[in-house]
Amino acid sequence: MTVKENLETIQQDIERACQRVQRDVNSVKIIAVTKYVSDERALEAIDAGIAHIGENRVEEGNRKWQVLEGKGTWHFIGTLQSRKVKEMIEKFDYIHSLDRLSLAKEIQKRATKKVKCFVQVNVSGEETKHGIAATEVIDFIKTVEQYSLIEVVGLMTMAPYVEEPEETRQYFQRLKQVQKDVQALRLSFAPCTELSMGMSNDYQIAVEEGATFIRLGTSLVGKEI
Ligand SMILES: *Cc1c(COP(=O)(O)O)cnc(C)c1O
Repeated sequence: MTVKENLETIQQDIERACQRVQRDVNSVKIIAVTKYVSDERALEAIDAGIAHIGENRVEEGNRKWQVLEGKGTWHFIGTLQSRKVKEMIEKFDYIHSLDRLSLAKEIQKRATKKVKCFVQVNVSGEETKHGIAATEVIDFIKTVEQYSLIEVVGLMTMAPYVEEPEETRQYFQRLKQVQKDVQALRLSFAPCTELSMGMSNDYQIAVEEGATFIRLGTSLVGKEI
């Protein structure tokens, strides 16, 4: 399948999901996660009209950014080691994995302009998952205020992998609730208007529950390795 064909199917699914809950379809943005695929396939995604690219490794992400000549908006979606921030900060427009204060501090040190960050939340409480516990997100965000170059644009989560996608709904609902709690604080540095949630197997549910960025690898560009 071409990326364009996959994208058409996905867009129909998103439209239907939006209709079910009466959402504006334009409020959902697709990030093509290109970590599994070749440069050619990533370029195909750009040519198909994809505006957002997601990578989860600094070296590979930087390399693809060069090949794609920085076309599109770049999202860093993986665990980010502090020592690598300086290598990626100029290329990526969004960081989806702010999960500790030491990382915030390093971003502040290396950034030359405001950086759009998602606080990664571990909504399932699984020990293997990265992210801040849902109950600690508010306290964490308050401590980020001291770093003037960090803008908390939203929250991100990875639902646990389950056979039945419907089981992920509760996690997306929990993230939405945390978002409401953050928004109620009306913090100027943390508008928290975005929700980065939903992957290939559960994006329709994530859209029903309010995702504004869905992160699609396998279903959109495929998986080559
Ligand atoms: C790999 C990855 C994705 C995409 O996964 P698919 O199931 O292939 O769509 C989304 N988000 C993150 C954080 C990832 O690491």
